[in-house]
Amino acid sequence: MTFASRILARPARFAEADTAAQDSTGPSRAKEARRALLARIAQFVETHDLPVTASNLATICGGLSGSHPELAQAFTAREIAGEPIDQRWLDTLGRFDPDNHSRIAALEALMDKLEYSLMRFAQTARSAQSETSDHRGALGAQIEAIAEVAVPPAVAGELAQVLDLSRAMLARIEQVEAAMARSQEETDRLRENLAKARMEADIDHLTGLPNRRAFERRLVSAALEARAKGEALSLAFCDVDRFKLINDTHGHSAGDRVLCAVAATLNEHAGDACFVARHGGEEFVMLFYGMDKAAACTRLDAIRRAQAARQLINRETGKPFGRVTFSAGVAEVTEDADTRSALARADAALYRAKQEGRNRVMMG
Ligand code: GH3
Ligand code: MG
Ligand code: MG
Repeated sequence: MTFASRILARPARFAEADTAAQDSTGPSRAKEARRALLARIAQFVETHDLPVTASNLATICGGLSGSHPELAQAFTAREIAGEPIDQRWLDTLGRFDPDNHSRIAALEALMDKLEYSLMRFAQTARSAQSETSDHRGALGAQIEAIAEVAVPPAVAGELAQVLDLSRAMLARIEQVEAAMARSQEETDRLRENLAKARMEADIDHLTGLPNRRAFERRLVSAALEARAKGEALSLAFCDVDRFKLINDTHGHSAGDRVLCAVAATLNEHAGDACFVARHGGEEFVMLFYGMDKAAACTRLDAIRRAQAARQLINRETGKPFGRVTFSAGVAEVTEDADTRSALARADAALYRAKQEGRNRVMMG
């Protein structure tokens, strides 16, 4: 039995043991169980040479502790298939995390509600303000008209009192109106900030491209539209080749500049019929509207060649980065009713492109 299958065979029993330990024999066994889980996570990270990141630890813990049986199954299936449990594959797991998708959807729905409430509040405040302003105008005119009227001295004192009270009320209405105008401005600012925050949440700040969140939303709407119109839609994962080496040789910030250069090539050559986003790390994702997988492959291969032909120089040291290439996997979204299966096919094609030597585009 291999290492992974040995540690993966136990998650459910392990989780039960943990609970039982807490119930019956007190905190020391629970502590021991936690320590054992941590040791298994550490061993897993080391065996598969994975970076220690929060999302990696969450995924691995989910699989090894038994809290996410589908992750444990995915680990085991990967192991049985003899395929590597590497960073790219772990990222793929995150990509298919249904919890993550429903969390994003819930957040989106909440933002929609908030936006709608703010819009309604702004409308109500605006109409209340304009009504108040009309009344104030009419009341003011009446007060001044009455003040001009000559009255017998016997009632003059009382009328003056009524006029003073009315003027005080008018001044109060003016104050309320000004406060309403201020809160309306605040609501407008809040709505602008919310719209800005939503836009920024869709942008990858390193490359300026749309991010994975934006891509996932676009994929859903583009797939619906393509199916409704009976048009083709394809997608591609592009992963920079041997990028770790660039970081190791030139440093992380030079690596960042290389990512920006690759993003620029993808964006420049994509044209109107493509949507390009940074999926995360050194991985980009593209949508090809109205293109079947063969057409998308041809288009993407031209972009791949353009990138491979570019000479990138580290402007801080003057040293060349060498040939910076990417590998890609393409799949047709409209080939299948389940949009997510296209992601899996593109990912598998990318994996083959890497295995077959990199700097190539494969069809899934
Ligand atoms: P492969 O051809 O198999 O894709 O090899 P690779 O070296 O590109 O792949 P690997 O997954 O081993 O390494 C990817 C590296 O990308 C590891 C990580 O540190 C680096 N990386 C991820 N995000 C960023 C980033 O935003 N900036 C920089 N500079 N590096 C990043
Ligand atoms: Mg990668
Ligand atoms: Mg890579």
